[in-house]
Amino acid sequence: MKTACLISTGTELLLGTTNDSNSTYIAERLFNRGIRVVGKVVVGDNHNTIKKAFENALDLADIVVSSGGLGPTRDDLTKEVACEVMGCDMLINMVEVQRLKDYFARRQRSMPESNLKQALFPPEAEIIYNSLGTAPGMYLKKDNKVLVLLPGPPREMEPMFKQEIEPRLERDFPQAVNRVIRRTIKILGPGESQLEKMLDSVMDAYPELAMALLAVDGEIHIKLTVEGQDINHSQELMEKVSQSIKESVGRHIVGYDDDSLVSVVARCLVETEKKLAVAESCTGGLLAKMITDLPGSSEYFWGSVTSYSNEAKMLYLDVKRETLEKHGAVSPEVAREMAQGMQKKSGAELALSITGIAGPNSDAKEKPVGLVYICLAAGDLLQVKEMHFVGNRESIRILAAKTALDLLRRHLINGGR
Ligand code: AMP
Ligand code: MG
Repeated sequence: MKTACLISTGTELLLGTTNDSNSTYIAERLFNRGIRVVGKVVVGDNHNTIKKAFENALDLADIVVSSGGLGPTRDDLTKEVACEVMGCDMLINMVEVQRLKDYFARRQRSMPESNLKQALFPPEAEIIYNSLGTAPGMYLKKDNKVLVLLPGPPREMEPMFKQEIEPRLERDFPQAVNRVIRRTIKILGPGESQLEKMLDSVMDAYPELAMALLAVDGEIHIKLTVEGQDINHSQELMEKVSQSIKESVGRHIVGYDDDSLVSVVARCLVETEKKLAVAESCTGGLLAKMITDLPGSSEYFWGSVTSYSNEAKMLYLDVKRETLEKHGAVSPEVAREMAQGMQKKSGAELALSITGIAGPNSDAKEKPVGLVYICLAAGDLLQVKEMHFVGNRESIRILAAKTALDLLRRHLINGGR
């Protein structure tokens, strides 16, 4: 199996001001192509440390992937140091000079002299065009080693890695590709230990499978990995395992891999041609934001009412004063009237409502922080859920919005189970 070492360069990464997300991204992409990352290091913008990092990395692994330090300023040293360690001379590349000139001309700015160093490359290297910035990347194969240099900003680095580096890795290491199959199954409902128990028998039945549970914003993601020489066998195994998991926890499955709770609900709404409206109190519009984060949501989303005060609940959703006075704003009765009111006002077949106490303080009726009522009005059906969330204000709001979406998902997919 081919191995890789990662180097992240930038003093800001050592000061704690910037998170080294590049190496996480690269490690995952390499792992998916069957290249094993055997080490990674973060170094500041210092000639000596960068040099040691490259020497060690080239010593340890077949492939060295570095990010950062390709800019025009004095502290951007990665390329010259890496080329020094590889024993390559750097020459001015006229195509790159022209590209830089064009880049500045398009922005009606004159090019600083210092930018010229971005056009210096070893003649034997492949220069990787950067459509999103001035710093080109570099791919160099020499002495049975591959050296990859990438720009630091993730929005430049990620597309460059995906579109330019991965095809080259595939070209140079075809045998490495696709030995690993991964799948994520996203769950909402059961707790982590409860889920683990439900999955016990699956784990026992497939010892060659690696499974990890990851808690993400109220969801639990089951990360499955199968590794092996025989890709068909691995694929078959993954299907079998997924099927077993579906049998034991099926109705709690939100989706797979790139699915999200919102995208799954959206798909159902499009398929059934139903419209949704939401009435929010303690989430203050978060649910509407989550829904409209997805492009195309106007097809099924009517809109929302953020009815934070009692007055707004009465004025915009026809919640009755007596209900508010008798039961308090955080009550199943008010949740019901909010959903019904929203349904009536919008004409949408489906309406969700959320009312609860996000904290940190309790309300006038001394109800506990984390108590949230969620109601789904679907045609004539009214379904209320009482939840007791634990966490800070932000996480309670996220959990409330997600649970509301999940209530709808279960209604649309499982008939409410
Ligand atoms: P540079 O390529 O050194 O000019 O990097 C420019 C910017 O990219 C830095 O200021 C950071 O904000 C970002 N950056 C650099 N390295 C990383 C990294 N490893 N992970 C995430 N962001 C990074
Ligand atoms: Mg830097």
